[in-house]
Amino acid sequence: MKPDADAAAPAAVLMPRGHAAETQTQPTGPHRHPQDRLAPHLRTLRGMLLEQRSFRLEQLVGLRATDGRTVDTDSTDTDAGRARREVAALVADGARRAMADIELALASIVAGHYGCCHACHADIPLAVLEVIPQARLCLSCQRSESDLR
Ligand SMILES: [Zn+2]
Repeated sequence: MKPDADAAAPAAVLMPRGHAAETQTQPTGPHRHPQDRLAPHLRTLRGMLLEQRSFRLEQLVGLRATDGRTVDTDSTDTDAGRARREVAALVADGARRAMADIELALASIVAGHYGCCHACHADIPLAVLEVIPQARLCLSCQRSESDLR
């Protein structure tokens, strides 16, 4: 027989509630800064973007130099010359598009929403950003966009 234990039980139940719950600290707001999860990697990712940008710039400058507009004597009428210019135009197109994505990504770092899918606002996985730092879409949106093509 333990009269002390029996007596303590109802007292604990009658304790005023509320104080214990209030000490729990909740994170401020349900939405944190979307970019915060990337904070430790942001410097690296930004560096990659800047590197990519200068690479694309060099590429575009190089393509402009071999545009074909300057060589209008021999190569313009040959298939090889035409093919080379077509390839150069395609590469330039891709480089320009990549440049636009890179600029957009750099701007979104400044704005604080880098790594956010432009279509559904989901987090783009870090693993993706480490390979394609200028990625604008999450994997599922990328997939549905390529399905449309
Ligand atoms: Zn998405």
